[in-house]
Amino acid sequence: MKLHPVHGKDVPKLTDSDAQPPTSAKKGDALADAIKEETDRISDLQRVLYADARYAVLIVLQGRDASGKDGTIRKVFSAVNPQGCTVASFKEPTELERSHDFLWRVHQQIPPRRMIGIFNRSHYEDILVPRVHKLLPKKEWSARYDQINDFERMLTENCVVILKFLLHISRNEQKKRLEERLTDEKKNWKFRVGDLDDRAKWDEFTKAYHGILAHTSTKWAPWYVVPADDKDVRDWLVARTIADRMDELELRYPPADKSVVGIQID
Ligand code: AMP
Ligand code: MG
Repeated sequence: MKLHPVHGKDVPKLTDSDAQPPTSAKKGDALADAIKEETDRISDLQRVLYADARYAVLIVLQGRDASGKDGTIRKVFSAVNPQGCTVASFKEPTELERSHDFLWRVHQQIPPRRMIGIFNRSHYEDILVPRVHKLLPKKEWSARYDQINDFERMLTENCVVILKFLLHISRNEQKKRLEERLTDEKKNWKFRVGDLDDRAKWDEFTKAYHGILAHTSTKWAPWYVVPADDKDVRDWLVARTIADRMDELELRYPPADKSVVGIQID
């Protein structure tokens, strides 16, 4: 089983059952082996992505609080050479960031050719937050759909390969994970009271995510909805999608430079 890109007319409803692992997914040791296989593929492909030097790969991760963005990054890229990879985590914009257009801070974090760039949250927060918290009029946040599509198209025309993942968890699973943040001393630091405000606006966020999927899953920068209640299945599906896309690039090691052919080292 694999993930399919969202098509504008057929957007998942993002119900609780959409967050469940598919029944056909592997389990236990077989699943662990399958994850390892995919993370190893990404590692091999990253080496050649670097040598090939034609493309950058941008992975956008979105999802509610406790949907597993950090865990996915840790697992999916566990075998990747740290030198070939950057991670950008987008928080509430600073005063300086706010004084620019919303894509200003994002553009600076786009990976250069050779690199895999991972976004932990992204420019999509600039639709979600103003929409759900009513910080901007609809006219302004909805104009961002086209602005983002144009921006992402420009990037792909400049050799950035974009994949976007929405880690979708159910309301119950979020409750469980937020409770763990309250009770597990290793997780306390992750708990933010504001997360409860966002949880209270569950349906508004669902609507906002739905709008994003409907308007910004494009041929050049597709969205994938990941059933994320099961962490291992989530990691496997994300890793597989990334490895398959990188495979399609037909990456290759560049041939030796003419000037070094035939050189003998004594
Ligand atoms: P976390 O990912 O848990 O560290 O939380 C980051 C917080 O920053 C989340 O509550 C996001 O909604 C918020 N955030 C990120 N980007 C933006 C943005 N562009 N506008 C408003 N809030 C944002
Ligand atoms: Mg948080």
